[in-house]
Amino acid sequence: MTRQKSSSTPHRPSQGNRDFRNRIQRSGKSPGDQKNTPRGAPQIPTGSATAPSGILLKAGREKSLLRRHPWIFSGAIERVDGAPVSGDTLPVRDAAGNFLAWAAYNPDSQISARVWSFSETEKVDAEFFRGRIADALAARNELNLARNSNGMRLIHAESDGLPGLIVDQYGDVLVMQIGSAGAERWRDICADMLQECCKPACIYERSDSDSRALEGLEPRNGVLRGTLPDNVEVVENGLRFRVDVAAGQKTGFYLDQRDNRALTGTLAHDKDVLNCFCYTGGFSLYALRGAAKSVLSIDASGEALRIAAENLANNGLDPSRAEWLEADVFQALRTLRDQNRKFDLIILDPPKFAPTAAFAEKAARGYKDINLLAFKLLRPGGLLFTYSCSGGISEDLFQKIVAGAALDAGVDAQIVHYLHASADHPVLLSFPEGAYLKGLVLRVAQSVHAP
Ligand code: SAH
Repeated sequence: MTRQKSSSTPHRPSQGNRDFRNRIQRSGKSPGDQKNTPRGAPQIPTGSATAPSGILLKAGREKSLLRRHPWIFSGAIERVDGAPVSGDTLPVRDAAGNFLAWAAYNPDSQISARVWSFSETEKVDAEFFRGRIADALAARNELNLARNSNGMRLIHAESDGLPGLIVDQYGDVLVMQIGSAGAERWRDICADMLQECCKPACIYERSDSDSRALEGLEPRNGVLRGTLPDNVEVVENGLRFRVDVAAGQKTGFYLDQRDNRALTGTLAHDKDVLNCFCYTGGFSLYALRGAAKSVLSIDASGEALRIAAENLANNGLDPSRAEWLEADVFQALRTLRDQNRKFDLIILDPPKFAPTAAFAEKAARGYKDINLLAFKLLRPGGLLFTYSCSGGISEDLFQKIVAGAALDAGVDAQIVHYLHASADHPVLLSFPEGAYLKGLVLRVAQSVHAP
């Protein structure tokens, strides 16, 4: 992983002209790549290949669509008519033949179709994407969703009505991540619209997440429009972070933790802080700026730590209060316990242990392990910031896991904050899966009890 630095000016939609739709010319272009071919054996019975293409659901399986949930699982499908290929937009009908939605078909995914629109009269074409993108930008603009930062999530996939499309902004660079066959089909159109609306120096594509394989899509990583500046930087609440859009994790930075990092900064004064899974030092830098006494930061990625140390220097923070450790957190926490090290504030922000509910049990063991160890490392009255970004672990389950960890560690603890992703990661009410990040801030009691 290499990271780049930039003095790029923040690019935000101008406050003076909030309605992007008014600024966008109708282009009338057709979708870019129409050449997708189906892969993998369809588990869904196909109807007549000469009939008009469409998806017919099994009786009773229309309920989630009527609640406007955008996913159609393979098990809900009675039959697929015609000879559609991956990425095609198909009408979805209930068992009686009533129209339910227009959806992007993917025979290679467990999620066989993702809804573009629930309106029969809405045409899924270039103008459709222009409208959805304009709506997402307008919401961020009007609601000021990412105050005090030139980095923000511009498009949050299903929750912005664009299943499979993520767009993150870092100054004047946009990073696009495509995670569905439907979004893949409209990739060039979306890039054109973003170029037109935001006029970035570069649109970079980071379509190389593991989840692409589940969709039968090849990884892709490279410049889509413009030229990637040598250095990309995000300035968040006055702190500068280098963003490696080409090789960093996710799209290069974890924008979702912006507000939570800020909260940590306000509570770090005079504390010994331990930041586990620190990446490029997000929480660590906020804690140092918040006058923490010491900050020990751990990550398995040496490259992330190298950038973290650079970020520290670029922000003029005191390196003598910062210690960086390249290690496996599971192991490092045990070593710290054996050394009898103690901390006043601990952050646990691990990677996704459970991408889906199928991994929940194994993930639960991982969360319990690190939380139990963290409770043991906290001084009485200490604070634990603990997170899960696993879609397969609900908020309720996460709280139960943390409660079990506290019990086994022999500590009583209070929840003082329930945390989520920042507001530029909105959650569509009909799509609770959009609320993937959950966090708790816990204050442990002054005395311990027997585990
Ligand atoms: N809190 C960070 C984001 C953390 S992302 C921020 O605010 O920017 C999760 C991090 O965990 C990644 O940097 C990854 O390198 C690291 N990681 C994954 N598995 C790990 C392990 N077993 N031990 C240590 N670090 C790990």
